[in-house]
Amino acid sequence: MEPWEWSEAEWRRRVNQVRAGRSLKPARWPGGKRCAVALSFDSDHETNELRDGGISVGRMSWGQYGNRVGVPKILEILRRENVPATFFVPAVAALLYPDEQRRVVAEGHEIGLHGWIHELNSVLPEPVERDLHFRAADTLTTITGMRPEGMRTPSWDFSPATLKIQRELGLLYDSSLMADNDPYELLEDGKPTGIVELPVEWIRDDAPYFNMNRFQALRPYTPPTAVLDIFLREFEGAYAENGLFLLTMHPHVTGYRSRLFILEELIRAAKAKGDCWFATHAEIARHCADQGGIAR
Ligand SMILES: [Zn+2]
Repeated sequence: MEPWEWSEAEWRRRVNQVRAGRSLKPARWPGGKRCAVALSFDSDHETNELRDGGISVGRMSWGQYGNRVGVPKILEILRRENVPATFFVPAVAALLYPDEQRRVVAEGHEIGLHGWIHELNSVLPEPVERDLHFRAADTLTTITGMRPEGMRTPSWDFSPATLKIQRELGLLYDSSLMADNDPYELLEDGKPTGIVELPVEWIRDDAPYFNMNRFQALRPYTPPTAVLDIFLREFEGAYAENGLFLLTMHPHVTGYRSRLFILEELIRAAKAKGDCWFATHAEIARHCADQGGIAR
């Protein structure tokens, strides 16, 4: 049946599979802070090429840059500024670079789920998707010694089965969906799940502005100073609304000499306010769940 032939019940069923429920924007942030700042880094490394079945050594080396240069430079900035962050890591990237993951955790940051090999969930049969998420959770746990509390789906591709699998995994939060600026509770078929969504947006992601593909028309089209300007405006909006500023960056995209200043200047701008709460995604999700009365 074509979409225009669906019954009302059918299109309503599809929309309601996974939906934004009540807002979990807390009345206050810890310590009377005015705004929460959640920095995240998706350490995809070589998995972007592997996921597509690619064999390009050149593109894999771009991924390796993320490990060799990107992550160390980012960790250096976070250490200097003394702010925590969350790194979402595909299991295959974690297996390629277990020491990187252990160092990230040792420096006080969080590691969250980001698929097995950066696969697209929406093209997978449900049992395959479930197996990959569970194996990824076990792999990250073995490497870091800590069970992941949250998931960012690779490419923010969330299938109709993903939420069910997240519940089976006992996750605290997801950070892949876009129905609000501030945290909310995910509904499954209209019912509250207790899972906190920390929403993302392509606007607050480095990749759309900087990505590049030599053999396609895709080119970086926004100067780094303009990207900083967009991120700062997103931050100022979150600050004005006592909300959440959540940013997604990639070590192999931002970890360059001409781009790292974006991260540094953003952190400094937020610190200059004097009342921003820098926290990991898990810390923010826990606070929102507690304030929202979600029993865990
Ligand atoms: Zn990714």
